[in-house]
Order: sequence, then structure tokens, then C-alpha cells
Amino acid sequence: MRLLLVEDDPMIGEALLDALRAEHYAVDWVRDGVMADAALRSESYDLVLLDLGLPRCSGLDVLRALRKRRATVPVLIATARDAIGDRIAGLDAGADDYVVKPFDVDELLARIRALIRRSAGRAEPVFSHKGVTLNPATREAAVGNAPVALSAREWAVLEPMLQRPGVVFSRTQLEQKLYGWKDDISSNAVEVYVHGLRKKLGSDLIETVRGLGYLVPSFLRSPWT
Ligand code: CA
Repeated sequence: MRLLLVEDDPMIGEALLDALRAEHYAVDWVRDGVMADAALRSESYDLVLLDLGLPRCSGLDVLRALRKRRATVPVLIATARDAIGDRIAGLDAGADDYVVKPFDVDELLARIRALIRRSAGRAEPVFSHKGVTLNPATREAAVGNAPVALSAREWAVLEPMLQRPGVVFSRTQLEQKLYGWKDDISSNAVEVYVHGLRKKLGSDLIETVRGLGYLVPSFLRSPWT
């Protein structure tokens, strides 16, 4: 999962970056509204954590422009404790939820998981398909009842596909889930992680769709195989 963190306060930003990366999110951090707008126009994110008080262009304006483009990415706004008006304006401008500064990091992480779950069309916190179960809150994976250890990157590649069985993800889309970590992603990274996932979870869990990418098949066999 790839997140955009929009925060101009360096101390809060650093702390959030550490907390989100510790949860294995790929995170891009921008510090003003103009950069946030540019990032949202050019990159694809699973969630945006948006401070409202920002230099150059307010978070509210970034949010309004985002929704005007009909982007559906979940947006969690961060506001000051006494700024009830900001919270209302933010929600009415298309934010999905808010946290009040100073916020509890564990609560923030839970809200992020809930928003990502809802945006994937799921209500249940643990998701399971074809005997493979992922629990994003505990980051535990299992095949049947047997726990399986997945690396952070294997998880990042599998999670979007397992959330949307039957949907083809291009290699580029999956690579984007891996960006945000400091080191570069090699050109065959996705193939490497898919290979690892097949070894751990069964060879037929992830299908290759030639020329298009990969998918976790829904219960029906896909027409491409
Ligand atoms: Ca601020």
C-alpha cells in the first residue's frame, strides 16, 4: 500500500514517516500544498494523510481539486483540536475521516486500515481468499490455519491483488506499491516477489496474464488461462 503524507511540520512529518514505514507502508512525504497537488496528479496512492494548514496552497484546496478530478483515493485529514470548522469543511470537501492533533499513532493507524479496507469494498478487517488469509492489523498471513511469514514487499505485492480477486494489476501498478522505500526497485522486482509468493502460498494463487500483469483469480477460472 502506498501513502501520500502531506505535512509541513518536520517533527510531526518525521514521526509519521517512521510510524507508517514501520507498518510497511510505502510513503511519499511532501511538505506543501503545491507539491501535494503535483504528487496527486502524477502518482497513484491508496490513501492520503492530509494536513490542512500548509504553505503555498491549503490542504482544503488540494482536497477540493482532487475531488473535482473525481479521484476516489481515501483522504484522512489532520486538524488542530480547536478547529471544528476545519473538520466540517474538510469532510464536506470530500475527506473520508479526520484525526485531531496531537493524535495517538495507534488510532491513526487503525483509521488508515479502516479507510483502506472500505475503499477496497470490504467491511471485514481480515480478508481471505482461496484459503489464504491476510490480517492487515497484525500483519499475519496464513494458508489454511498454518501461519506463513511474508516479507514486507511480498505483502505489498499480494495485498492489493488478494483484496480484489479477478482484477488484473499491471507490473507498474504493483511496482508503485513498492516505491517510497529508500532503496531502488530493480526492474524484475515484481516477478521476484510473485515467485516468492507462489512458493509460499501455492503456485496457482497468482496467475500471470500475458502482456497485462497479474491477478488472483476469483472463484471462476479467469478467461485468460
Ligand atoms: Ca501544518
